[in-house]
Amino acid sequence: MERRKVGILGATGTVGQRFIQLLHAHPWFEIAWLAASERSAGKRYADACHWKLDTPLPARIGDMVLQPNTPATQTGEVPSIIFAALDADVARDLEPQFVEVGCAVISNSSAFRMTRDVPLVVPEVNADHLELIATQASYGSAKGGYLVTNPNCSAIGLVLALKPLEQRFGIESLFVSTMQAVSGAGYPGVPSLDILGNVVPFIKNEEEKMQEEVGKLLGRYTGAGPDAHIDPLPATVSAHCNRVAVIEGHTECVSIKLRQPATADEILAAWREFQPLQAHHLPSAPEQPVIYTDAADRPQPRLDVNAGHGMSTTVGRLRPCSLLHWKFVLLSHNTLRGAAGAAVLNAEVLAKLGKLPGTVRHTQTGSGVQVSA
Ligand code: NAP
Repeated sequence: MERRKVGILGATGTVGQRFIQLLHAHPWFEIAWLAASERSAGKRYADACHWKLDTPLPARIGDMVLQPNTPATQTGEVPSIIFAALDADVARDLEPQFVEVGCAVISNSSAFRMTRDVPLVVPEVNADHLELIATQASYGSAKGGYLVTNPNCSAIGLVLALKPLEQRFGIESLFVSTMQAVSGAGYPGVPSLDILGNVVPFIKNEEEKMQEEVGKLLGRYTGAGPDAHIDPLPATVSAHCNRVAVIEGHTECVSIKLRQPATADEILAAWREFQPLQAHHLPSAPEQPVIYTDAADRPQPRLDVNAGHGMSTTVGRLRPCSLLHWKFVLLSHNTLRGAAGAAVLNAEVLAKLGKLPGTVRHTQTGSGVQVSA
């Protein structure tokens, strides 16, 4: 199968580097275009980027030249599939410009996650929400472009553990307290003097994002045509978010009230049997999205963060809760499952569904970029 050409916007950052690591040898996608800020445009990737991963920067990628960051300022072609790893303020301005010229933009940022007709997707949880693309008006384009988002890095690990419980027992309310890794703040992120030997009990906007995104992710696709939207899950979610001195892996302590009674064995079976993507053979889908560990002192970031190639949520310590019904601890990788890996998996599902746009040819004209399929 010929690999589809893709681009990465925000390619030099923490998530952008993960995109490169995951995509440079991907069986379905080929990195053909990179961009970051105006500061980086025109530089070789290896010169513009502080490569921070423990796998080498692929030589071909290191030699690629970073392109300007808007469609209108391109001199060459832009692939019709763009993975975006931009801060929300930048994404709000740039992502719609790529959609408008016919690109599928698969975004990590929070800018459009809660927009009514923009799908917010974790494929194992709510792949059916991708139907919103067909009627996307706010950022969709007549040229076949659209926007798909993946959630906040803490919400992803959480909804993977919640979905099997919601399916079998229903969820009435939950309380979650996070211990989030410093890499979640990008690079250079939290100053070392603030975080070493410390816990910071505040991450701007994080609690609000977790609370609202969980409702949309576990919500129901409803309506038709321009009225299509997601009815959020009617569950109460209360989140406390903390930054801790861990490099990678967000840990979350969860207490949950279910709508129907469930035994520990029934909950463990729901997690074990949750394999919604197994039949689709997607390259980035973990064999087991939720892994339960019996060890009394796990999951731990240092030991469990790479479970399922960093794409599984590890859950442990299921026990009765004296306030709600049950409590447990979960861990997921924030830059793989929580960011780049999530977006790549979304693109794989879109490819499998035949929803990725065809080749888009951009031609520079006096008035900007023209697109033809
Ligand atoms: P980061 O390390 O700060 O990287 C930001 C990237 O954006 C860099 O490539 C930077 O390029 C580029 N950029 C800045 N201004 C730009 C502009 N005007 N035009 C184009 N590119 C520009 O941030 P990150 O951690 O990778 O996060 C990226 C997004 O993913 C954020 O929305 C974040 O909330 C989300 N996210 C992050 C994580 C995580 O664990 N880190 C998890 C989930 C979601 P230069 O190098 O040229 O400055």
